[in-house]
Amino acid sequence: MVSESEVRIGISACLLGRRVRYDGGDRLDTYILGAFPLSVVWVPVCPEVEAGLPVPRDMMHLAGSPDSPRIVTIESGIDHTALILEWAEKKLEALQREGLSGFIFKSRSPSCGLREIPVEGADGRIRTAGRGLFAAAFVERFPHLPVEDDEGLRSPEVMKDFLDRLFQRE
Ligand code: SF4
Repeated sequence: MVSESEVRIGISACLLGRRVRYDGGDRLDTYILGAFPLSVVWVPVCPEVEAGLPVPRDMMHLAGSPDSPRIVTIESGIDHTALILEWAEKKLEALQREGLSGFIFKSRSPSCGLREIPVEGADGRIRTAGRGLFAAAFVERFPHLPVEDDEGLRSPEVMKDFLDRLFQRE
């Protein structure tokens, strides 16, 4: 069992109420935040803003192969894949030193989405098998850390399992 005050949880910054979304808004999630002890330390991360993109910014999506997608602006087709991946490499080094116990990702994001993110193929077909660029890099780097997204945590069973793994409860 881990002391609650020792638990540091990474979280997509918009879920914590930071106004970092492409449209200048946030996605403050009081349900999720309220499910955790007050003593946990939140470590907010916004891949797109921390990599250098502005707020507001052009909306992006994933394109190419679902296994190795690119992140591009929807309207203008600007490819920000290298920007995000180069930032992620350095950020993951820093998060390693943070000693995170887990991470909560924002669902449906081409950067933070953990599962079933739409990827537009070269043929124009949409496949919903992708993972956001930062989420994919995080899971590859920390394969044994518990991770979930805001939609998954709406399930009481998933929330309980996530909390049990974070606090290493029997
Ligand atoms: S989903 Fe991720 S990239 Fe998008 S605003 Fe939230 S933290 Fe930033």
